[in-house]
Amino acid sequence: MGPLPTPAEAEALVRERIKALPVESRPLASLAGAVLAKAVRAERDQPPFDRVTMDGVAIWSASWLEGRRRFVVAGTQAAGRPPLSLESPDACLEVMTGAVLPAGCDCVVPVEKLRIADGTADIDENAAVEPFANVHTRGLDCREGDMLLPHGTRLGAPELAVLASAGLPRASVHADPRIIIVTTGDELVEPGEPIEGWQIRRSNSCALRGALALRGFLRVADDHLPDDPQVLRDRLAVHLDTHDFVVLSGGVSMGRFDYVPQALRDVGVEEVFHKVAQRPGKPMWFGVSRGGQAVFGLPGNPVSALVCLVRYVVPGLLAAIGAHPAPAEPMPLGAPYRLQPPLSLFLPVQLERSPTLGLVAMPKPTRGSGDFISLLGTDGFVELPPGPADYPSGYLADFHRW
Ligand code: AMP
Ligand code: MG
Repeated sequence: MGPLPTPAEAEALVRERIKALPVESRPLASLAGAVLAKAVRAERDQPPFDRVTMDGVAIWSASWLEGRRRFVVAGTQAAGRPPLSLESPDACLEVMTGAVLPAGCDCVVPVEKLRIADGTADIDENAAVEPFANVHTRGLDCREGDMLLPHGTRLGAPELAVLASAGLPRASVHADPRIIIVTTGDELVEPGEPIEGWQIRRSNSCALRGALALRGFLRVADDHLPDDPQVLRDRLAVHLDTHDFVVLSGGVSMGRFDYVPQALRDVGVEEVFHKVAQRPGKPMWFGVSRGGQAVFGLPGNPVSALVCLVRYVVPGLLAAIGAHPAPAEPMPLGAPYRLQPPLSLFLPVQLERSPTLGLVAMPKPTRGSGDFISLLGTDGFVELPPGPADYPSGYLADFHRW
């Protein structure tokens, strides 16, 4: 057996083996976090007309520049109404934000700079009147047919607004992965169920689901299996038929009841790697089934399970929805850290503001990978290259958020 892959190599193996899911058309309301499989161009100029940006009155600015301060109010231009026309340069039209600038007007004076009484508007001497003041002119932001959202764009809030503005009720995106979290372990007991002194609460599925939900992955089923090779084989075969991602926790180490790797091979999942040169989470397992489903065997210890989900499953999910890899987020260490073992370290950190370094990652080591209580208050973890090494305060490490 060769040397174990580094975390970066393991992530690359995950990305290489996961293909983007098929493209489907989905309604706008279900697209947050999805990745466009087809580019979107502008339906119209944006703004589509000279758009009033302040409540006030629209005038012909030359009249003001010639000295006129009092204007007869000849009508009201509301948003959503077809454009009115200013018949005389000595008159004005009341206008509302979002309305089209009426024909014959070239600027807007905001309500704060005028008084309206008895059908006339008196404009303050200090009003800043000039052509196109308080008007968002047609086509300033983009032109009809401009490329707005290229293929591969991940849809966050601004992108969704632009998509809607392009007039499309649906968009072509890669399918949302169907995920199942499968915990294993005879010692685990569901919250709400009576528990014996020697048993453990089943907490991983909740944490893993939370980390997925916070990233917009919501199609998540859940199962729990005993440490029984036959049951594992039977249930895994079923889950592989109905999910794109199977995320297991537990049963991948060297213990006598760690049946997961063998059960996965038995149901035809090809092992891509087992073990990564990292701590915690060294027993991490990854493989691909005959149908192309991705299978992750996360170590059961809660800290290991969570870091491995963030470090390997999340990049795999992003590959499956066709997203570009998220860029690394370098973060300076807020305190020095000495690392002995020749393994990469996933070190939990809390983000803090330092007077000299700005935002820093303060190391919050746990008492081993079973100590998830110590993760409380942490924001994520940094990845430190293998020791032995003394990492000084200010050392830039890749930060991963929980
Ligand atoms: P394993 O990887 O199955 O050897 O499990 C390692 C440790 O993690 C054991 O102490 C397990 O009890 C614990 N563990 C495994 N799965 C879970 C889970 N779903 N929730 C909480 N602890 C777990
Ligand atoms: Mg176990």
